[in-house]
Amino acid sequence: MATGTNDLPPGLRTAVMLVTAEGRLAYCNSAAKDMLLGAQAHGARFDDLLENAETLGRILPGTARRILDAAATDKAGETERFTLLDGRLILMATSPDADGVLIEWTDVTPFVEALRSQERDGLTGMLARPALIREISAVAASGERAALLYLNLDRFTGVNNMLGHLAGDNLLKKVAGRIAGLMAQGDVVARTGSDEFVILRRAGGEAVFDMAQSLLEMIARPFMVEGQVVHIGASLGLAFTDGSEGPEDLVRNARLALMKAKPEGGGGIQLFTDEMRDELKRRRLLEIDLRQAMALREFSLAFQPQYEIEGRRLIGFEALLRWQHPQRGAVSPAEFIPLAEDLGLIVPLGEWALRSACKAAAAWPLPLSISVNISPLQFRDPHIVATIVSALSASGLDPMRLELEVTEGALLLNSDAVMLIFQEIKALGVRFALDDFGTGYSSLSYLQKFPFDKIKIDQSFVRNLPGSKDGIAIIRAVAALGSSLGLSIIAEGVETEEQLATIYLNGCKQVQGYLFGRPLAPEAAEALVAKVLAAGVPREGGTP
Ligand code: C2E
Ligand code: CA
Ligand code: CA
Repeated sequence: MATGTNDLPPGLRTAVMLVTAEGRLAYCNSAAKDMLLGAQAHGARFDDLLENAETLGRILPGTARRILDAAATDKAGETERFTLLDGRLILMATSPDADGVLIEWTDVTPFVEALRSQERDGLTGMLARPALIREISAVAASGERAALLYLNLDRFTGVNNMLGHLAGDNLLKKVAGRIAGLMAQGDVVARTGSDEFVILRRAGGEAVFDMAQSLLEMIARPFMVEGQVVHIGASLGLAFTDGSEGPEDLVRNARLALMKAKPEGGGGIQLFTDEMRDELKRRRLLEIDLRQAMALREFSLAFQPQYEIEGRRLIGFEALLRWQHPQRGAVSPAEFIPLAEDLGLIVPLGEWALRSACKAAAAWPLPLSISVNISPLQFRDPHIVATIVSALSASGLDPMRLELEVTEGALLLNSDAVMLIFQEIKALGVRFALDDFGTGYSSLSYLQKFPFDKIKIDQSFVRNLPGSKDGIAIIRAVAALGSSLGLSIIAEGVETEEQLATIYLNGCKQVQGYLFGRPLAPEAAEALVAKVLAAGVPREGGTP
């Protein structure tokens, strides 16, 4: 057998022909007849057959000659490529055989097409990621300086949800058209995600910033989609080649810059800076440590008390993860939780937090409530319900005492699946609080769809009280919403008596913050509960 076509995937059609030393066809399979030789082939002279094929237009002029050359000279193991009239691509391998020469003629068109479809984005015709990476490698190899512009649309999800996926696709095509309109000779454009585009430009400096600016302006102009005027925008991350990093690094750098541009409300341009490079390095080191921390038992929980403002009655605690690193010291959850989410470690870590929190609360001398933060990614874990059931039964905690804090992000992922999980957990008797309310999409439809028990007003609204009119307006609106939907409202981050008075006067009844207590070590939290019990403060039951 020829070795030349051995690496091809199975399922491709191969014509096999055995030609004797005298130049006659000794054997051929049916594919050879279909593709090349015609029905009456056996025994005929091979050169006649090929000439015939050429005359009949089965192969392009000149092909017969090339085949005969390949078959005549000893080119065993070598392959040659032919293109047919209809564009199909053939790979030919020849190998010497005891009776002459064996020729294999394989139609690799399906294989090549499959490869091409990976190379290009089907919707916009722009390059796909693998092709982009190759282009960057080529530029890097040439030593040219280049810039990568990583562009992400703002508000695209909204359009997609509101007008439907077809309209979304339509819009993407139009965006792609506008981007293409700004490209110059030598630019490479790729679509790397649903609403993400990457542009590689062989240039440095000011010109690139100008193009970035033009791109954003162009996309900020209104689009017509299905007869509707649609306004979106884009944010952009920018990184330059530095000669030492690989193509994947350049993409990552530009993407990281984009992530920094996004939270500014969209429409911004951010350059990848040296500080970001340092931060990446720090993250990489942190990642190594984080992977070990679980095994080394470096995590613990702190419990921050929550109070009913009236009577300053303790109602429960929020469990907050703590990481004590032997060298770094205390690492903030604001730093390691996002990292754990990126690394897929949040599921086991979150499970540990949940089990530990339930266990701690079950040991308190009063049946107060315990709030546990659940990351959006934990909601995707198919075992989440089983994990909660198991944490409850292992600790013996009354499910009514457990409250899960989730952010809107958790609900966005996949509404139907999430809804099902939500309902199953509620059916256990466990309660839900909507965390960080006001910072995300704050779509009221979620509150209708998901039966929350509590809303936590984010600290950013509390921080500027009592001076902030907006803060007051938010608290008033949320309190009104809460009373009409039958939800309790808690404000977090309350640090001063003035803030406390303001939230209370505007309808918020519960509070959590440094004014009432910082997150406490487990023993201190338990001692606080014991003190409340000893003081004999009247309580009406376990749930706030
Ligand atoms: P969060 O859920 O919004 O938690 C409240 C954060 O505000 C806590 O920070 C808390 O210590 C802090 N805080 C409370 N009162 C005040 C105050 O009066 N003033 C100020 N300036 N801050 C206050 P922490 O413990 O650093 O946690 C940060 C975030 O990390 C949490 O925000 C939460 O998103 C995440 N996190 C913590 N523990 C867990 C966990 O077990 N699982 C998950 N998924 N996330 C967690
Ligand atoms: Ca929380
Ligand atoms: Ca919060």
